[in-house]
Amino acid sequence: MRKLILPLVLLSGTVFGQSKLRPEIDKKATAVETKVIEWRRDIHQNPELGNQEKRTAKLISDHLRSLGIEVTENVAVTGVVGVLRGAKPGPMVALRADMDALPVTERVDLPFKSTVTTTYNGQQTGVMHACGHDSHVAILMGVAEVLAGMKNQLEGSVKFIFQPAEEGIYEPGVTTWGAKQMVEEGVMKDVDAIFGLHISAQTEVGTIGYRSGPAQAAVDNLEIIVHGTQAHGASPWSGVDPVVTASQIVTGLQTILSRSVNITQNPAVVTVGAIHGGIRHNIIPEKVEMIGTIRTFGDEQQELVHRRITEIATNIAESAGAKAEVNITKLYPSTVNDPNLTSKMVATLEAAAGKENVKVNPPVTGAEDFSFYQREKPGLFIGLGGMKKGGDPTKTPSHHTPDFYLDESGFVLGVRVMSYFVVDYMGMKK
Ligand SMILES: [Zn+2]
Ligand SMILES: [Zn+2]
Repeated sequence: MRKLILPLVLLSGTVFGQSKLRPEIDKKATAVETKVIEWRRDIHQNPELGNQEKRTAKLISDHLRSLGIEVTENVAVTGVVGVLRGAKPGPMVALRADMDALPVTERVDLPFKSTVTTTYNGQQTGVMHACGHDSHVAILMGVAEVLAGMKNQLEGSVKFIFQPAEEGIYEPGVTTWGAKQMVEEGVMKDVDAIFGLHISAQTEVGTIGYRSGPAQAAVDNLEIIVHGTQAHGASPWSGVDPVVTASQIVTGLQTILSRSVNITQNPAVVTVGAIHGGIRHNIIPEKVEMIGTIRTFGDEQQELVHRRITEIATNIAESAGAKAEVNITKLYPSTVNDPNLTSKMVATLEAAAGKENVKVNPPVTGAEDFSFYQREKPGLFIGLGGMKKGGDPTKTPSHHTPDFYLDESGFVLGVRVMSYFVVDYMGMKK
């Protein structure tokens, strides 16, 4: 029996060659925890909107430089990229944090509450880290400190990606996301795998959530214009009514999810959020415009839903003698966690949080621009608990609201798991 056990131990030692570094990571993560919380409070009190994260970027680049990490600034407008070269050869592992805040006025009474204001889309508003990206930056700065202190033991290199504008830039003539631009500027070219996390205000501290395959939705904008023929409201037979046609299209679109999508695999959403047409009770207008949002999981489902929307809208319109113009604009792709990478990393998640604290998440119909990196190289994006222990998620303010709040005791697990990702991945690549 003993003879059998020995080779097994040796084998696992080879597969996870660097996991012996975990105890040292734990020690260093605990040591950096106070600093992580201080950085987070500083960033929280000084939030900056997408593509304006200059102060945040400087804080990051000064810190990375102090650790001896190679730094490139102003990547994708305000982004910062740091490269830590390990002493031994091996893969390039990327870790990502997003830096942007939101046009939300903070209502939480904290000593480091944001009082920053700005004008956004012509309206006066507060600026707040109401999605927790301040914690992502602070956690990744902590990871940089932990791993820089273990440089001589690293079998590969680490790329720290601090990106702007995860929430997107929606200005006249400009629609973009920080991750998309980082990819366009080539940050993923020499990367073997990428990892990221999102704090969750409605999940208990100490827990990690993940999902293999499509985990977060693709978001696409929908616009349908129904062209009819204007007529007097008293004699509808003399025209083609786009209001009735548009109504039928809205109803018809509901059959995509009930009759075309295999709902046992992934959910999908088609929402018509606005209908505009007509000006007066007795005039049948010439056209009706509808706008909405489409949420899908994975390329195949996205193609199916887009095709069905076009078929339903154009054919219903045709049957009425009207014409439907369908415009779909692709925004975020679906966040798809590489199944192979994910299955290899479950043990890492369990080692960091404890098996009982790792949960498989349901699909999320919100989007995340981490997806742009995952279209280049295998990536894994996880959820990190940020709600106080024993809290009720249904009574806890959600992300993007003025009462959004994070329990900072959850951050250290973020530092540990991101550092584990690096050394475990390096160990596996051998
Ligand atoms: Zn957000
Ligand atoms: Zn976010």
